[in-house]
Amino acid sequence: MEIITPGTEQTECKRCGDCCTKGSPTLHVTDNVLLIEGTLNYKDIYTIRSGELVYNNVDDEFITIDEELVKVKEKSDSRECIFFINDDNSCRIYEKRPTQCQAFECWNTEKFLSVFAEEKITRETLLQSNPALLDIVETHEMKCSYSVLNNLFEEIRSGKDVVNEVFDILSYDMTIRQMLSDKMGVPNDYMNLLLGRPLNETIIMYGYKVETEEGGFFTLVNI
Ligand code: SF4
Ligand code: SF4
Repeated sequence: MEIITPGTEQTECKRCGDCCTKGSPTLHVTDNVLLIEGTLNYKDIYTIRSGELVYNNVDDEFITIDEELVKVKEKSDSRECIFFINDDNSCRIYEKRPTQCQAFECWNTEKFLSVFAEEKITRETLLQSNPALLDIVETHEMKCSYSVLNNLFEEIRSGKDVVNEVFDILSYDMTIRQMLSDKMGVPNDYMNLLLGRPLNETIIMYGYKVETEEGGFFTLVNI
């Protein structure tokens, strides 16, 4: 859920749907019940990992997030929440919408900011009953953390040849996704919840894109 600059005249929600087109909600512990009762499914949510670059439209800038967030997915190539229905500006799960959506008032952000500070859902809390999967997730987080990548890209910018270390991380990220799917039968649409967004997509935050050459070799290309 993104914060919109408060209006001066507005005092109630006009059901325009603007907030739902500018971002999806982050889930709090209070939203666990939505997962338990099936309003939300693992295929509907994904993880923004600590250190990832996200857009903050309060200050109209990209910021590095310093905590893990589990969010409702957005529609492809858009910041629009997957539950938003464009035809009539409505919400497919309105009666059971997440905590942030209930708190959001675009004319007064106080309530939202107070809710935002409350405890959020993390992958660790979601996977408590599946220690084997949690172990895979934590190992991936350790090997493919954004703090490691930040350091490597700083070294690349300063002229050091550590590109192969970046490729090793990219390769690990791809391999573990394939392994979870092939060997453990994890549905592909759960993958961005378990492991965050694929690194070959998010690497764009460092000003590069990844191209895969014949034989599966990677190349980093400046953008
Ligand atoms: S909270 Fe504001 S932006 Fe969101 S639907 Fe209501 S009026 Fe529109
Ligand atoms: S869950 Fe519903 S209310 Fe919340 S952002 Fe999505 S469409 Fe809007």
